[in-house]
Amino acid sequence: MNMITNHLPTAELQALDAAHHMHPFTDANGLATKGARIITRGKGVWLTDSEGNRIIDGMAGLWCVNIGYGRKELAEVAARQMEELAYYNTFFQTTHVPAIALAAKIAELAPGDLNHVFFAGSGSEANDTNIRLVRRYWQVKGMPEKRVIIARKNGYHGSTMGGGSLGGMAPIHAHGGMIDGIEHIGQPYWWGEGGDMTEAEFGLLRARELEDKILELGVDKVAAFIGEPVQGAGGVIVPPATYWPEIQRICDKYGILLIADEVITGFGRTGNWFGSQTFGIRPHIMTIAKGLSSGYQPIGGSIVCDEVARVVAEGGEFFHGYTYSGHPVAAAVALENLRILQEEHIIEHVRDVAHPYLRERWEALTEHPLVGEAKLVGLMGSIALTPDKAKRAKFASEAGTVGFRTRERCFANNLIMRHVGDRMIISPPLVITPAEIDILIERAKTSLDESY
Ligand code: PLP
Repeated sequence: MNMITNHLPTAELQALDAAHHMHPFTDANGLATKGARIITRGKGVWLTDSEGNRIIDGMAGLWCVNIGYGRKELAEVAARQMEELAYYNTFFQTTHVPAIALAAKIAELAPGDLNHVFFAGSGSEANDTNIRLVRRYWQVKGMPEKRVIIARKNGYHGSTMGGGSLGGMAPIHAHGGMIDGIEHIGQPYWWGEGGDMTEAEFGLLRARELEDKILELGVDKVAAFIGEPVQGAGGVIVPPATYWPEIQRICDKYGILLIADEVITGFGRTGNWFGSQTFGIRPHIMTIAKGLSSGYQPIGGSIVCDEVARVVAEGGEFFHGYTYSGHPVAAAVALENLRILQEEHIIEHVRDVAHPYLRERWEALTEHPLVGEAKLVGLMGSIALTPDKAKRAKFASEAGTVGFRTRERCFANNLIMRHVGDRMIISPPLVITPAEIDILIERAKTSLDESY
C-alpha cells in the first residue's frame, strides 16, 4: 500500500476511511456514499480541509479547542515531556511532576474547597470515576444502600456504559442498555417544554422534580445528583435563573452530593473559569475534560471537595484508576494550556466579546423567519428553528430535518455549526475576534436563508 498522507487525492482517502475506520456517532452508510470531510490543518479559529477550503470552526472541534488551533508552545511542551519522561503511572504510591503540578494548579483555580483531582483520559471516564467515587463515599460512611444517582433526560455525560447511563439520551440507552442505579428527571428546557408557564415558574417546576424523585426513592437510597450547568450536547439548553438555586437548596436539604459536569462549561466557556461560578452552584465534585487541555491531549478528571476526598481516603485503597490517569505528556500540555488561558486573559476576552458583541448579533438572528429563541451564555449559544415562533411550534416533519439541512448548508458555506434536532448550536474557540464573529454570523445567516 502507498504511504497514506495529506497528499493523496481526497476521494482515495475517503475510500480508505470508509473501508477501515469506524467513526463515533456516525452513520457508516453515509460515509460509504458521500465520504467524510477531511480536515488537514488548524490555526486560531480556522480549519483547512483536503480541498484547501478555509472553514470557520464554530464548535471548537467538539467544544474543546478553547485556546484555538496551532499553538506551538503546547507542541514544544509535549516534545520536551516525551523526551524527559514519556510515561509513568500514578498507581501504587508513585507520582510524577506533571501530575503534581497540574493537580495543584486545578485546585488553585477551582472554587471553594474543591482541592483534589482524580485524573482520567476523558470526560466519560471521569464520570465513570464519579459513579464509583460517590458510591464509595457513602459506603465508607456506613450507608452502602445510598447508591442511586439522579440525572436528567437529554443530559449528556459521555458514552461509556457509565457515562451513557448517566446521560438521558434514549438512542444511547437503546444501544446496549444502561447500568443499574441511575434515575432521570426532566430537563429545564422552557422553550421546548415550558407550555404556558413563565421561565421562572418552569425552572422551579423542573428543579422540584429532584425533590419528588428523592422522596419517591427514599433519601437513604440516593447518593448524588449530576447535571451540566448548561446542557451542551442536548442543544445548549440554558436553564431559567430559578433552576440552579432550587437544585442547590434541595441537595443541601437532603444531604445529596452534587456533581457539576463541567466538561464543556469548564475552563472559560461561560465567561468564568467554571460554569458553576456563572450559575452560583456549589458542587462537591466537578467533571472536567475538553478545555482542560484545549483538546491538544486527551485528559479529563474529577475535582473533588475536601470532605469527599477525606472520607474516601479513610476507606483505604480506592479500587479504581486508568493506565493513563495523570499521563505526564497530557498533564504537561494541560498545564501549559492553563498558563495560556490565564496569562493571555482569555476568560476576560470571552466576557468582552460575548457581551454585548456576540449577544447582540446572535439575538438578532431571531429576526430570521426560521429562528425562535436565541440563547447565549459566554461563548456557547443556540437558536431554535421553528415554523411558528409565537406558538414555539415544532416542525411536523421528523425532528431534526430542518436542523440537519441547515447544518449541511453551514458546512457547504465553510462554517462548522452543529444541530441537535432543530436547535443549531455554537461553541467557538474562546479566542474568536469580533471580525471572526462577523464572519460566523454572516455565514450562519446565509445558511439559514438557504435552508428556509
Ligand atoms: N460530559 C459532558 C458534559 C460532555 O459534553 C461530554 C462530551 O461531549 C462528556 C461528558 C464526555 O466526554 P468525552 O467525550 O471526553 O468522554
